[in-house]
Amino acid sequence: MSEHLLDVQNLRVSFDTYAGEVQAVRGVSFYIDKGETLAIVGESGCGKSVSIQTVMGLLPMPPARIKEGHIYYEGKDLTTLTDKQMENYRGKEFSMIFQDSMTSLNPTMRVGRQMVEAILVHQKISREEAREHAISLLGKVGLPEPEKVFKRYPHTMSGGQRQRVMIAMAMACNPKILFADEPTTALDVTMQAQILDLMNSLKKEMGTSILLITHDLGVVAKMADRIAVMYAGKVVEYGDARQIFYNPCHPYTWGLLGAMPNLIQEVKSELYAIPGTPPDLYAPPKGCAFAARCPYAMGACLKADPPEYTCSDGHISRCWLMDKRAKEVTPPDGVPTLPRGGKEHE
Ligand code: SF4
Repeated sequence: MSEHLLDVQNLRVSFDTYAGEVQAVRGVSFYIDKGETLAIVGESGCGKSVSIQTVMGLLPMPPARIKEGHIYYEGKDLTTLTDKQMENYRGKEFSMIFQDSMTSLNPTMRVGRQMVEAILVHQKISREEAREHAISLLGKVGLPEPEKVFKRYPHTMSGGQRQRVMIAMAMACNPKILFADEPTTALDVTMQAQILDLMNSLKKEMGTSILLITHDLGVVAKMADRIAVMYAGKVVEYGDARQIFYNPCHPYTWGLLGAMPNLIQEVKSELYAIPGTPPDLYAPPKGCAFAARCPYAMGACLKADPPEYTCSDGHISRCWLMDKRAKEVTPPDGVPTLPRGGKEHE
């Protein structure tokens, strides 16, 4: 039983393939409360989308398989529900905005009809009432002349307009959690700012919680209350936005922050890139999965996976550097000194 709105505990998800088992999510825990935004950050393939799709019940099983863990939503463990039972949650209790609106909307149906169908699945109202509701939502997400937009096909609209339609559809049944998987990646920066502002204002107005998946720390800075940094199927650092941006404790987070474009850096200086590639999740390494790319790796990092250490209240890092026996290291320029000797968790 959990007091959080959504509480994911020690989730492990694998894919069974002809080449073997891909351990995509390897013991992920996070929670989200009413009206807050949690951002899950990490490179492609780190398991962030798989985690969310598992919560939504969108993964085909098989080949996907929940090996372990619980997903509590309002105290109910979603891992025990059937596909049919999950349909009562999707769209109504939580909904999703996908990255590419062009492939997520049905190209053969007018956007209004798609919205009406989605509303009628979950709400016992007449078709005419659903139509009025859809038009009012299209107006609410800032689309001018919503009655005309209602009759348009997706291909006649710009990327920003389609993404607004997706948000309107996602908000149609007033969900408690909005999952947004890279919602602005396909948009230019001006449209990106407008869409993020729109999501923030809908969150304030309707009290919706947002679970945002992104690799873009600029988006995270604008949106997140709390942040989970994922690497190779695990959460390696977790904390509120201030802790992660002003006192990051994990070398991978340092790398991500270092790779952010900075308007005040010298124009000629090269943008930092984390060397190497993430490990193969068919056979994850025995020790820290980041060791092959980490400039601070020690002998212990290759032998055992680091446990969680508390850096400060609610701020957790999975790195041996936090152990009081570890050597002292100097974080990269601009990153505050590491608070070593944190409390170790099992
Ligand atoms: Fe680097 Fe070791 Fe920390 Fe992993 S545990 S991030 S290899 S210092």
